[in-house]
Amino acid sequence: HPARPLADLSADELAGFLAAQQAAYADLSGRGLKLDLTRGKPAPAQLDLSDELLHLPRGSVDRDGVDTRNYGGLEGIRELREMFAELLWIEPDQIVAGGNSSLVMMREVLTDLWLKGGVDSERPWSQEEKVTFVCPVPGYDRHFTLLDWFGIETVTVPMNDDGPDTEAVAQLVASDPSIKGMWIVPTYANPTGSVCSLEVAERLASMPTAAPDFKIFWDNAYAFHHLTEDEAKSADILSLASAAGHPHRPIMFASTSKITYAGAGVGFLAGSVETVRWYITHLGKGAIGPDKINQLRHAQFFGSAQGVRDHMLRHRELIAPKFAEVDRILEERLGGLGVATWTKPKGGYFVSLDVLDGTASRVVALAKDAGVALTPAGASFPQGRDPHDRNIRLAPTFPEPADVAAAMEAVATCVLLAAAEKLADQA
Ligand code: PMP
Repeated sequence: HPARPLADLSADELAGFLAAQQAAYADLSGRGLKLDLTRGKPAPAQLDLSDELLHLPRGSVDRDGVDTRNYGGLEGIRELREMFAELLWIEPDQIVAGGNSSLVMMREVLTDLWLKGGVDSERPWSQEEKVTFVCPVPGYDRHFTLLDWFGIETVTVPMNDDGPDTEAVAQLVASDPSIKGMWIVPTYANPTGSVCSLEVAERLASMPTAAPDFKIFWDNAYAFHHLTEDEAKSADILSLASAAGHPHRPIMFASTSKITYAGAGVGFLAGSVETVRWYITHLGKGAIGPDKINQLRHAQFFGSAQGVRDHMLRHRELIAPKFAEVDRILEERLGGLGVATWTKPKGGYFVSLDVLDGTASRVVALAKDAGVALTPAGASFPQGRDPHDRNIRLAPTFPEPADVAAAMEAVATCVLLAAAEKLADQA
């Protein structure tokens, strides 16, 4: 570790540094590692926290006297909707509890907009010449894949520490009526960990848009997923939009995928009362009711909104040490060398690592050959194309702490080797 920026090294020093990294990498490759930092999955120990669910529900009748074993209740059972309405600062009649995936709900909403148009649309989106979405980057790869599948165009804006670059967003949406919507992960964003500030949320809620039916897909997947005591509170986008005269603009999503079981949780959709009715009407063409037994099980397991908050503390105890390891190793190995910057998220599931421009794919390829699977370079950008080839998403929740450390040591070696190669090449 030369303790000064690599760019300041003399040609000889750089050659020495490169040779040292090549040796370190050869050593790494010889270790037969098999590690995976690719996807934001809860670790088995996190899933174990919810195993009481396997013995619930007690009885099958909910608080309203509904027999959850039967058909009906498309909007979901009231006690669970009330619980999550409280957590998300909304009214119970503004929220739907659905099946196990909020991503499915996002796809349904896009499908309904495409085929039928929204409550404030002039026509179905499929009848527009072109539909475009604003995508803050880096962002969530599955959002972008979903847009691609619809043939929806994308235009990117930078994701800052306090949310999307509102000036850039406001300019785009003001003049282009093909821009029908935007994605945002407002709390502990995937992958940057950014938290959308109240000021940013206010601007997004109130900015004039050329499209009358502009939608904010407010994907609050990590609303309660704090890693520190400094707990972010999501901006109340529904009230802000309503106050600004655009009540139907935001559609909020959330789920218990990373609270209870990723494969058997409950997804939520929220919006204006009209938006909720619109969604339910379309949902009703293909469903008679959700899995209310799973909803009842969740309501009994948590007991109350406070029960959800208490449960999230137990997750934090399990995963915060893994995030601490990521930061410690990056700091120790890369700090001060001017070859990388990374986020220090206070919640969520990811760390966003920026390496020297043009080296992210090389780092991911080197890691792969050494037995460490990373999310493909560019995954956090539409079409998988990072214009600077510098961003890498790290997902440390799933592996054991020792494996997170081993994987990060390997990542650091790969970052250093790729940086040394690039600088030597330029010299
Ligand atoms: N949104 C974001 C931002 C996510 O990171 C994820 C999971 N990786 C999801 C949605 C998926 O949510 P669900 O399991 O409810 O479909």
